[in-house]
Amino acid sequence: MTLSPEEALRKAEAAGIHRLRIPTPFAVGRVNCYLLEDEPLTLIDTGPNSGKALDELQGQLSARGHSIDDLELVILTHQHIDHLGLVEIVVQHSGAEVAAIGLAAKRLANFAEDAEEEDRFAVDLMLRNGIPPEVAHALKSVSRSFRGWGAKAEVTRPLDDGEQLRFGDRTLEALHRPGHSPSDTVFWDEERRILIAADHLIAHISSNPLISRPLDGSSQRTQALVTYIESMRRTREMPAEIVLSGHGEPIVDHVALIDDRLAKHERRKEKIYALIAAQPRSGYEIAQAIWGNVAVTQAFLTLSEVIGHADLLVNEGRVRETDDGEVIRYEATG
Ligand SMILES: [Zn+2]
Repeated sequence: MTLSPEEALRKAEAAGIHRLRIPTPFAVGRVNCYLLEDEPLTLIDTGPNSGKALDELQGQLSARGHSIDDLELVILTHQHIDHLGLVEIVVQHSGAEVAAIGLAAKRLANFAEDAEEEDRFAVDLMLRNGIPPEVAHALKSVSRSFRGWGAKAEVTRPLDDGEQLRFGDRTLEALHRPGHSPSDTVFWDEERRILIAADHLIAHISSNPLISRPLDGSSQRTQALVTYIESMRRTREMPAEIVLSGHGEPIVDHVALIDDRLAKHERRKEKIYALIAAQPRSGYEIAQAIWGNVAVTQAFLTLSEVIGHADLLVNEGRVRETDDGEVIRYEATG
């Protein structure tokens, strides 16, 4: 029997996992953090760095009889600022340990420099894929204006993929599931069949596989969608009953959701192949053919979508990249 999302939330609560919905200034709306009432008292993600988020975090913790000072462990699910911006303040108040995938520790510790580097990378990627310079630079300013909602995180408890985190009442297995971001980590309670998945899987929106620099600091971009599809396939095999997301309601049938997402990517891939087969195009031209002139803020998102699907086609040998020294174009091989 599949649970309803409400039943799933109640079941998670009965297991000591409480959803805290923290406001963000972003289009995605509130972010889900999870309070784990166990030994140690644990907060999974913190919400963004803002007074409003801090107020609500305090309020929602105190409604359960806790304060920020009581937190003993903060677990970070991934590198995005809507999930981790308050970590520095939470640690200052509580002295909590900070656990995150070890591969991301260096970047999390160098937040400001890393964000700057990531913006440079994004601008370069956009220009190389035909996005007009004014759009690329406008987007960089937008990204910079969001910087204040983030913060650096000193990871005191770096996690390996597959590492078990032991609590008084449960064990969570940390599983690296990159794709939405390179640091996406999900936490698996095998005994209760509850997966805390953050933005790896979201019920009401598909998680954007944003193109990013790899965690090892190399300049080569990730094949974000290729990686994300592999990660989804691995999650599909898990016997989860409840998947708790970073935004929105719990997922109660992750296999159906993943199958739906995989089918959607397959359709989009074929649509992009048809556009490329008709004539060679840059990533930007493909994005325009699909979405028209989207808002500036969507330019990187839509480009990530296009490049992600083009990567799949390149890996299948159906499409190749050509480079005139300025702009990369895709053309059909057949
Ligand atoms: Zn995210």
